[in-house]
Amino acid sequence: MKAELKPCPFCDSAAQNQASGGMYYCECSSDCCAATTQWVDTEEMAVLKWEAREFDPPLSASEIAEITEKETARDAETSDVQERIADLQRQIASLESLAEIWEQELNRRR
Ligand SMILES: [Zn+2]
Repeated sequence: MKAELKPCPFCDSAAQNQASGGMYYCECSSDCCAATTQWVDTEEMAVLKWEAREFDPPLSASEIAEITEKETARDAETSDVQERIADLQRQIASLESLAEIWEQELNRRR
């Protein structure tokens, strides 16, 4: 079943059916538009929701701020971990060269 979907009410772009992991939804085909239905069990239900203009509510400013904050915190955490890894790699390198010196010293004494 391939129904002709009404265009997006926000930007007038074509709508498209989407399926993922056995769930269906309809969304605006424009990248700059967030119009999308909920994920539902059947394609028919997704189409009905699109045609009825039942979209997932867009995120509020505070929800967007919260997500942005979490992403920033996660990025900071990631760069902390990367710094620790680089630090440990420097320590390993210096221990390896120390081990090499000791080994040469031992060989010399044998
Ligand atoms: Zn749109």
